[in-house]
Amino acid sequence: MNITGTTRLLALFGSPVSHSMSPSMYNYSFKELGIDYVYVAIDTEPSNLKKIIEAAKLYNMRGFNLTMPCKCIALEYMDELSAEARLTRSINTVLIENGKFIGHITDGIGFVESLIEKGISVGGKHFVIVGAGGAATAIIVRLIMDGAEKISIFNRKGASYDSLQTLRERLKRELKTVNIEIYDLLDEKSFAKEVAAADVLVNATPLGMEQYREQTIVKNLSLFHTNLVVADLIYNPTKTLLLREAASMGCKTVDGRGMLLHQGAAAFRLFTGENMPIDRVRDRFFR
Ligand code: NAP
Repeated sequence: MNITGTTRLLALFGSPVSHSMSPSMYNYSFKELGIDYVYVAIDTEPSNLKKIIEAAKLYNMRGFNLTMPCKCIALEYMDELSAEARLTRSINTVLIENGKFIGHITDGIGFVESLIEKGISVGGKHFVIVGAGGAATAIIVRLIMDGAEKISIFNRKGASYDSLQTLRERLKRELKTVNIEIYDLLDEKSFAKEVAAADVLVNATPLGMEQYREQTIVKNLSLFHTNLVVADLIYNPTKTLLLREAASMGCKTVDGRGMLLHQGAAAFRLFTGENMPIDRVRDRFFR
């Protein structure tokens, strides 16, 4: 890279950030497109976030990305929010425009684009989502905005479950047609019924990764029907037990790499006004 006196700075704030692929993806793309930006990852204690954000303005940065736990904390420092960020109550991309912080969230569009590139549309579809954390919330908001017909959400009873009720009320208040049903993850009968009628099943829990590597949200293989698309947000491993079993039963599957790539590409578009060279980035960093 050729860093000059005019190079603008972008960064990822959060903790931990050392594993992030964003600096490699972005800097490669800047070089490929001849864009005079540089992107770094800065490990940020949440308690220092306000100071870091203020410094971003002083450094005349173009903007920054945020990872957990900063995605929710940073909301209060924004001057403006995109409609999607306001509904999701979370931001992962901040533009600094004329001294103002403008917060966006690109996780939902990242997921939707990962479906579209596999030929799966959202409009009129019935989704079953397991999980109610940050990723699930962003996806639910985007799917509703993009015209999903129905979303059935399953989660264990607790704080996230309760926050789903609040989310549903907020979406109903602000958007016209919202068809969201919320179920206890222990309700196996409803799970079977909803999956039988669904077009897309989404895992938005950690079941399938790390200490849950050999666990899956689907206990009964007969629930997989050939009209069902099965998507897992997990990208490491790429082939979770859920996706392996779904594929063995004839379902089309979508792993989490597409969402990771496309949420970054959407942020890249916001920062630069240009399209990330997605195919080259995928070949270089995601194969
Ligand atoms: P999160 O905010 O911590 O939410 C996790 C969700 O999973 C919560 O609803 C949680 O329920 C549920 N859960 C956790 N452990 C569980 C268990 N043992 N059994 C059943 N449910 C369980 O995490 P997140 O940020 O939404 O991430 C969720 C998944 O998406 C992770 O696997 C993450 O790697 C993946 N992800 C992928 C991308 C991508 O770009 N591909 C982006 C973001 C996240 P409780 O609240 O009841 O604990």
